[in-house]
Amino acid sequence: MDFSSIPKIENHIHLEGAIPYETLWQLIQKYGGDKEVANLYQLKEKFKFRDFNHFIEIWIWKNQFIKEYEDFKFISDAVFKDLVDQNVKYAEIFISPSAFKKNLEIQKIIEAISGSITENQNIKISLIVDLVRNFGQENEERTLEKINEVKDHGIIGIGLGGSENDFPPELFVDLFEKARDYGFKTTAHAGEAAGADSIWKAIKLLRVDRIGHGTRAIEDDKLLDYLSVHKIPIELCPISNLRTKVIKSMEEHPFKLFQEKKIPVSINTDDPKMFNTSLAEEYQALSEAFSLNKEEMYTIIIDSINTTWLKNEEKEKLIYEFENELGITKQNKY
Ligand SMILES: [Zn+2]
Repeated sequence: MDFSSIPKIENHIHLEGAIPYETLWQLIQKYGGDKEVANLYQLKEKFKFRDFNHFIEIWIWKNQFIKEYEDFKFISDAVFKDLVDQNVKYAEIFISPSAFKKNLEIQKIIEAISGSITENQNIKISLIVDLVRNFGQENEERTLEKINEVKDHGIIGIGLGGSENDFPPELFVDLFEKARDYGFKTTAHAGEAAGADSIWKAIKLLRVDRIGHGTRAIEDDKLLDYLSVHKIPIELCPISNLRTKVIKSMEEHPFKLFQEKKIPVSINTDDPKMFNTSLAEEYQALSEAFSLNKEEMYTIIIDSINTTWLKNEEKEKLIYEFENELGITKQNKY
């Protein structure tokens, strides 16, 4: 099945992991090149990961080629264009400005990205600032203060990324409390590298609005019931889980179980260029692994609009737009 032309939304995509290869290649050349990647082919080859830690290592390697504010504008322009080309109508995009704070001011990074949002009116973009567990609560509280100053530049919420095992949710309770006070929505990567306990803590201690990945919720029946009863949305990133070896095969992914339990989900690419994926490929992989027809996938995509952090009237408008574009009318609703 070909899902490339249908309308799409994305709730879990990292700007720095979505840079088109040619764009990243230009940045590497701008900063003198890297002898390990002599050409575009070798750059793509570098994004093949042994495991989750190897992925983090390459993530950091790539960030050394983003050095100036104009680089953020440059990558944002390229990423937004790439999303428009895939018919993505709306995206909530993670950015991790604190990873660059040694050389750059966080507020000015946000302003640079915001400049690109303003210029790219053919897609609606909201930003989620992904705070980094490894930097610790104190440092990331300072990041939160800084992003709060510029939240009018499209920042809708905060997330929590980095090493899930070494820096568990209990270290960030005050940070999330403060973020809520500032009016930010919240999500946390949980149940990706660590087990079900990490998801429980994200819910109970950080009181998140959504869960990033949530893959390992499959290990705990009580948790699955809780997610179902409380309708806590999960940002699924199936091919990412496959590439970082959180799952061994797509058939192993808890997607179907979440569907059966009526847990709200969205389907996302996480770091599409690093995982060599796209939303169309995610839809295709799931539909093949779980024998879903085109119409069933359409329903899942439309339902996922309700898990975005758009205002209710904006969600309704987007659902109407999707139904029109997919040829779904009230009479023949699946
Ligand atoms: Zn992620």
